Amino acid sequence: MNMHAEYAMTPRSHQAPARETCTPHSFELAAVALAETTPEGRLLCANRRFRSLLAQSEEALAGSPLSAWLLAWEDGPELHQLIDRAWTYPEGASALMRLIQPNAPDSRVLLNLNPVRDEAGRPSYLGLALSEVPDAGTRSAPLDVPGLRDELTGLATTRIFQDRLDQALARAARQGRRLAVIYLDLDHFTLINNSLGLAVGDALLRAVAQRLSGLLRAADTLAHLSGDDYLLLLDDLGDTQAVAPVCFKLLQAFSQPFQAADHEMHATASLGVALYPDDGEDADSLLKNANTALHRCKQQGRNNYLFFAEEMNGRVMEQLFLKNGLHQAMARGEFFIHYQPQVDLRSGLVIGAEALLRWQHPELGLVMPGQFIPVAEDSQLIIDIGGWVLEQACADALEWQSQGGQPLRLAVNLSVRQFRDPHLVERLRQVLRKTGFPPHCLEIEVTESILLDDAEEAVAILKRLKGLGTLLSMDDFGTGYSSLNYLRLLPIDRLKIDRSFITELEHDPDDACIVRAIIALAQSLDLSVLAEGIESEGQYRILARSGCAEGQGFWMARPMRQAQLLRQLSLPLRIATAPDESERALLLVDDDPHILAALERSLRRDGYRIYKAHDAAQAYALMARHDIGVVVCDQRMPGTSGVEFLRGVRRLHPDTLRIVLTGHAELDSILDTINEAAVYKFLTKPWDDEQLRDNIRQAFHHYELAAANQHLRELVARQPPGEPQA
Ligand code: C2E
Ligand code: MG
Ligand code: MG
Repeated sequence: MNMHAEYAMTPRSHQAPARETCTPHSFELAAVALAETTPEGRLLCANRRFRSLLAQSEEALAGSPLSAWLLAWEDGPELHQLIDRAWTYPEGASALMRLIQPNAPDSRVLLNLNPVRDEAGRPSYLGLALSEVPDAGTRSAPLDVPGLRDELTGLATTRIFQDRLDQALARAARQGRRLAVIYLDLDHFTLINNSLGLAVGDALLRAVAQRLSGLLRAADTLAHLSGDDYLLLLDDLGDTQAVAPVCFKLLQAFSQPFQAADHEMHATASLGVALYPDDGEDADSLLKNANTALHRCKQQGRNNYLFFAEEMNGRVMEQLFLKNGLHQAMARGEFFIHYQPQVDLRSGLVIGAEALLRWQHPELGLVMPGQFIPVAEDSQLIIDIGGWVLEQACADALEWQSQGGQPLRLAVNLSVRQFRDPHLVERLRQVLRKTGFPPHCLEIEVTESILLDDAEEAVAILKRLKGLGTLLSMDDFGTGYSSLNYLRLLPIDRLKIDRSFITELEHDPDDACIVRAIIALAQSLDLSVLAEGIESEGQYRILARSGCAEGQGFWMARPMRQAQLLRQLSLPLRIATAPDESERALLLVDDDPHILAALERSLRRDGYRIYKAHDAAQAYALMARHDIGVVVCDQRMPGTSGVEFLRGVRRLHPDTLRIVLTGHAELDSILDTINEAAVYKFLTKPWDDEQLRDNIRQAFHHYELAAANQHLRELVARQPPGEPQA
């Protein structure tokens, strides 16, 4: 039988418009004792838990005044005072009450009254929740009851939030209304706590609570969950369109600084939103899904809000699974380190190695750092894990040092969170002391993201690291937001060109230009430069020719175990010995094999090392691997015109001299190429052997002259200022 239907039909003296009947399931089966009364406190409906707490039947409760069942506790407020208070304060009222119950006289309950008004603002009804409070001995003033108000912020506690959410859900189900649960979390709060201390952290939490409270409607509930987590309940929403503007307003509240203790502080927040009934029909699923959305929001860069979407669950579950595993991974010895050799591109010799962390997961197998480092970075775990890597790598690298020869460099990655750890320098100092590793052989790799939050602070930290005697490199350079101005101020030794610019280096003129620009930038700032992700001989050679001193990549060596590295160091790495580049290298490009053969016959006697390509792709690959001085190409080729191809050559290999040989001398293309200075000579087919040979000889002469000039310029640039030139 549905008691709610009956109660709702019972004529009562409140002015509220007739409401729909209670929905049996959510309300009736809630784990909390819930009821609704007229504005004056006569029972309209009560759920199973409520009836059982009062040990009364539906009939006995129907229409009865609350005062028949609850009395004031000690010197706490009388029930009618509490009801008045509930209608005075938008957040309602709560107090301890004594239960008048035959089986358990004197048992203490916490009564929570929530006023609900109609659209005209008139009292409609009171929602109430009762919770048992076990220890009957304590005499406390009602608002000091533990669990009622959060001590730190003065906001509602999780328990109150739960009660309100249960009631709101029951109401929403009955009335077909909607509601939203929002998880709000401050971004990087641990950093504030770690760097400025707990007292400032607490003051910030209070200031945030105060500002957010001021933004909400009376029907909404804001609770402090724990740490920097807050929960919001947006109750009684007509439609969910209203939620995004509220989220926006909440984020905007963070645009002004907070006054926390003596500090004026800027903070941002991330929000995860779950909607009833779309994202869950009960409190547990709404809270879980709002939390999932929050996690996703943080992963996507924070300082934003995100609505829950079903597909988030898989990804977040996976992350949670990894996070749980990470907690134990260190204790279980599941981490190990791979070392990837770094090579001097001129000599091909190994000059050092980068430590790359690996996780042997008991169920998932080998997990790569790209998957788990971001998860570890989301918490303090990265500090412990990073500390372990540093110590283990230094101990391992001592073994390479004792292999004789040149001292080898050890490069270790540092995440942003480690970088901002206030104890970083001390930790590093201790590792160096403990392992005895020479600091000048240790290179710390940081990324441009360290400059994002506070660039000046980052410079100061780098200087402190440098003060320990270590080397510093800027990893993944070119992908972040380094301002050239800061780059000048950073005490770094090396730029590591990101792999993304190397992958297409042989064919993509834009990448080639960027790489050359980074090398030039490094040279002018007096920094070394290392290219990451070299996967082919062509990339290796282009880089070496462009003046990039060092490289790292699968083409030379993949990351490997320490034992393999030790064996490898005593053997030569698979480094291509540079082909004899003393001869003049000439590239002929034509899709007609007869023409290629004829050209080769004419030019062979001049002693060139001749390479032949049928199309642009083949030509680019050859040009990457060999130091081509002059390229002669046909104007008509499948897929691209000769001029188009030479345009690419000009950007990929600006020093190579370019000659077009064509049987179809269209005026347009001739003008184009001349105007762009993409060619050195434009010759026509059939060619005159002597004229062709003469032109190519001259082209090589120009090429060599330019190379000699460049060499001289470099020599002059390397002269220390003030010294007489040789
Ligand atoms: P990273 O520091 O830029 O390291 C280079 C990454 O490129 C490594 O991936 C390496 O295996 C990969 N790599 C090197 N040469 C080639 C190549 O020729 N081709 C391709 N396709 N890849 C190449 P890995 O080991 O998966 O590491 C990924 C990232 O994880 C690293 O990027 C680094 O940011 C981070 N990481 C690794 N170990 C640690 C660690 O101990 N601490 C921290 N904080 N981050 C780490
Ligand atoms: Mg690195
Ligand atoms: Mg990198």
